[in-house]
Amino acid sequence: MSDSFKALVARKEETLSCSYETLTLDDLDPGDVTVAVDYSTLNFKDGLAITGAAPIAQKHPLVLGIDYSGTVIESAHANFAPGDRVVMNGYGASEYLHGGYAERARVSGEFLVKLPESISNAQAMAIGTAGYTAMLSVMGLQANGPAPGDGPILVTGAAGGVGTVAITLLADLGYEVVASTGRASESEFLMSLGATGILDRAELSERGKPLQKELWAGVVDCVGSHTLANAIAQTRYDGVVTACGLAQGADLPATVMPFILRNVRLQGVDSVQAPMARRLVAWERLAKELDMKKLAALSFDLPFSEVLSRAPDILAGQIRGRAVVDLSR
Ligand code: NDP
Repeated sequence: MSDSFKALVARKEETLSCSYETLTLDDLDPGDVTVAVDYSTLNFKDGLAITGAAPIAQKHPLVLGIDYSGTVIESAHANFAPGDRVVMNGYGASEYLHGGYAERARVSGEFLVKLPESISNAQAMAIGTAGYTAMLSVMGLQANGPAPGDGPILVTGAAGGVGTVAITLLADLGYEVVASTGRASESEFLMSLGATGILDRAELSERGKPLQKELWAGVVDCVGSHTLANAIAQTRYDGVVTACGLAQGADLPATVMPFILRNVRLQGVDSVQAPMARRLVAWERLAKELDMKKLAALSFDLPFSEVLSRAPDILAGQIRGRAVVDLSR
């Protein structure tokens, strides 16, 4: 490859526009590690950034793409050497740092995770921010939370990126998993990942009573708004609810009743600024616990050239599982 490479760049004058551009290394951020990017992904947040549906990019011009995997080609950081395989997500990528939608990235080595041997660069992005967030959610659920056998775990936004990986991880840990989805057509697929029950998401999406029938030992919520409020109201005594997403909305129209009468605990999940120690545990656990055959079934290849045109689909809930963006195509 010559010095120039292809990138998906957001620019803002009066309005936001996104297009493929040719950049050089001089256009990248300062940093002590340069990475040849192999794969990125298309997440809900990427959809928001590309379409401008929410102001994700905080500086312009900006290379979008909230995560990437690749191979180190140059390093002045003690922990990294050329040839190391790495993954990067969060820490402001696609917000105020250039992201993964470019064939080259330059970044501080403090933000990089060396990939476990058993995870290939393509698998790392099949997992991606969504899969890693699913693992952070599982870790949040398990910390003083329900054990397998304690009762069903509800996963909302089940057919999405976080949801599909969360179902896989929880089912393989021995939990009984109920998947809430708006896509009845995906029921069989969700059962194949390990869900034992399907709930129509419409049953959770309208305003409900502050305390409802106790159903769930735990909840992994990707949706927010009324869905999260109802899930909290249906959680059993001492149950744990993790909240990572806002696919329905950023509001939380709930009362304190489940917290003060049922000892329910609400655990936030942030992947962006998660400390390095927690990231390393998450990636090590993914390497050991995630069934790579199921991962292959819930991910598909997306050529880099199609990211721009497919971005609205993820906001419309029309992408199943994980889209792995191949930078070489
Ligand atoms: P996806 O778009 O892949 O999945 C979201 C899912 O939510 C959809 O597949 C759909 O599931 C469901 N959904 C969509 N719209 C609605 C709606 N209006 N009402 C109810 N359910 C809806 O996104 P990801 O899995 O990548 O991310 C899930 C959420 O987590 C997003 O909000 C994302 O921004 C957030 N996130 C947060 C992170 C953090 O650090 N906290 C990190 C990564 C993601 P179905 O079709 O099954 O109903």
